[in-house]
Amino acid sequence: MSVLVYTENTDGKFKKSVHEVVSYAKAVADAINTTVTAISIGNVDPSDLASLGNYGASKVLNVSADRLKQFTNQAYASVIAAATDHIGANVIVLSNSFSGKGLAPRVAAKLGAGLADSAVELPRFDGDRLTVKKTAFSGKAYAITELSSAKKVISLNPNAFEVRETGGSTEIETFSPEIPAGDFAAVIHDIVRATDKVTLPDAEIVVSAGRGLKGPENWGIIEELAEALGAATACSKPVSDAGWRPHSEHVGQTGITVSPNLYIAIGISGAIQHLAGVSASKIIVVINKDAEAPFFKAADYGIVGDALEVVPKLTAAIKAH
Ligand code: FAD
Repeated sequence: MSVLVYTENTDGKFKKSVHEVVSYAKAVADAINTTVTAISIGNVDPSDLASLGNYGASKVLNVSADRLKQFTNQAYASVIAAATDHIGANVIVLSNSFSGKGLAPRVAAKLGAGLADSAVELPRFDGDRLTVKKTAFSGKAYAITELSSAKKVISLNPNAFEVRETGGSTEIETFSPEIPAGDFAAVIHDIVRATDKVTLPDAEIVVSAGRGLKGPENWGIIEELAEALGAATACSKPVSDAGWRPHSEHVGQTGITVSPNLYIAIGISGAIQHLAGVSASKIIVVINKDAEAPFFKAADYGIVGDALEVVPKLTAAIKAH
């Protein structure tokens, strides 16, 4: 019995979800009296790998082959499946991130494992059975999933579990599994970034605006606020449909899912389809001139007021500090 956790990186730097999934894996391992092994694929700095001990991983399998530098679902799933066999893991934990959504089902299929994606809390164990609460229907409902297979894959929703420091250390082992040649039938040679801005799924802070801004000519105040906070910008669907902002900024059920520490929603009504993509945010701040706007029900903090007046004042106050 042991737990394997996949730790994602971008360009050799761990993603913000990593300490959260390792903490979750450690809590799962504690519940079944076992240890956590992390698997890292790509050229992650050894000091970053070593830091995983502080969150409960007693061992890290480090896979750093050149042809695995760029993420590919097939090859990464094969590596995680091989690592599962290598350590005899029976629970495999991943983040339900953009790449985790592609990886988790592939890993489960390779291992003949049951899959609980979008988990929101620690599972309950009952002998060999494991029961997981997960979100369903774009976050509109919860589903309770029972896994009874020998191996079990869980993908954890971002911001669903608190980061826990355990103060431990970790052993780093180089791992070089055989990967089927067919996994490299299509490979990404290089990724050229279209912008230097923080990408939305990775952003710690997102400043998002909707139709309440009236038109694209008013987006200067949104960009200034985002710049003052080091945030990424986002928008509601009608805004990108109208061409006020690019489609790459559209968040929600039919757009990008974000899970920042802070989501500031400005002039957005809070329709359920919008909330589906942002409800995993840790703190939500809503600015809307209508005190009855539905978004206030999902907000941690709210300001009732005209965005065109409130936002410049907020930016000035942030710059003054
Ligand atoms: P509105 O609903 O027009 O709301 C504008 C808000 O701004 C209002 O609350 C108003 O009080 C406020 N406001 C007006 N003036 C000011 C001001 N001066 N200062 C402050 N506040 C002001 N939407 C998404 O966003 N993402 C999706 O992925 C998505 N997918 C969808 C999928 C389907 C199948 C369907 C049917 C709809 C989808 N929608 C999606 C659309 C969604 O239902 C809403 O219509 C949309 O989110 C509303 O956008 P909005 O809040 O910007 O505009």
